[in-house]
Amino acid sequence: MKRILVTGGAGFIGSHLCRKLLKEGHHIICLDNFLTGARENISQLIGYDHFELIEHDIIHPIQVEPVDEIYHLACPASPVHYQDDPIATMKISVLGSIIALGIAKRHKAKILLASTSEIYGDPQIHPQPESYWGNVNPIGPRSCYDEGKRCAETLFMDYHRQEKVRIKIVRIFNTYGPRMQPHDGRVMSNFILQALQKRDLTVYGDGSQTRSFQYIDDLIEGLYSMMNTGDDFLGPVNIGNPSEFTIKELAEKIISLTASQSKLIYSSLPEDDPRQRQPDINLASTYLNWEPKVSLDEGLKKMITYFKEKIVANELIEEQC
Ligand code: UDP
Repeated sequence: MKRILVTGGAGFIGSHLCRKLLKEGHHIICLDNFLTGARENISQLIGYDHFELIEHDIIHPIQVEPVDEIYHLACPASPVHYQDDPIATMKISVLGSIIALGIAKRHKAKILLASTSEIYGDPQIHPQPESYWGNVNPIGPRSCYDEGKRCAETLFMDYHRQEKVRIKIVRIFNTYGPRMQPHDGRVMSNFILQALQKRDLTVYGDGSQTRSFQYIDDLIEGLYSMMNTGDDFLGPVNIGNPSEFTIKELAEKIISLTASQSKLIYSSLPEDDPRQRQPDINLASTYLNWEPKVSLDEGLKKMITYFKEKIVANELIEEQC
């Protein structure tokens, strides 16, 4: 049994990861300040002998009991959330990484960074291999997240080179699934809720921009496999589903799967919104023997069922997202 620290453990991805690690027989220390994470995401885990919760903001130093591994996930990740307080976003990416790396150094723990496809910015190479350095605006509204995560990657590499910390870097592409926050402004949650609540679907721009979405279970397998590779494989490695489609196609598919009467309404494209995104996953397939298994249709049906149940349970307030 390993002792594993998960920063951001009460978030969408973190809460799925904590469950996976518990199932694998490990002792989990979940650290979260509940800025965008939710108690509800981990309420079923509280009370387990091998699940500890620490409420803390990782930008401030903290002493934890020795751990073997750290998954460093803590950071707001939806564009609405990370742009809401861009200075806090940069602090969590930079200061939070320094604190997490310090814990790894002290305990000689292996540490994995949840980085992002956003580090490629608005990519001019398509699909994006890990060797691509990206096309990022350093002074735009998305920079707090894009440059924050780029800096986090730099810190991870420097702690490895200078302090011999055992690190892993994963670049996570768009991910969806149960326990995504319904009102976080992301396209998946927006469109599904809008379709179910008989509101029009808000397409930004003309909807020709593309994304590639992976289902949460596939991502969790990828993170776990990456952590369990040998110490000489650091990454960065892309984890995402290469199946690419336009945002308009996504809207139409959700309308069809929900049998909704909703229409599409168009508004302006947010500044620096990437035009296209698709992971090259050759590295993950070679080094992790990993590839996504859940198709978009299959994943969307699960997601729609999840949101339907929330609506029936009256847990969602109807609001314009
Ligand atoms: N988007 C949209 N309507 C929405 C929310 C998002 O058309 O209600 C678009 C957004 O402009 C972007 C894509 O959907 O092109 C994915 O947005 P999201 O915020 O989910 O993730 P991103 O990949 O931009 O971080």
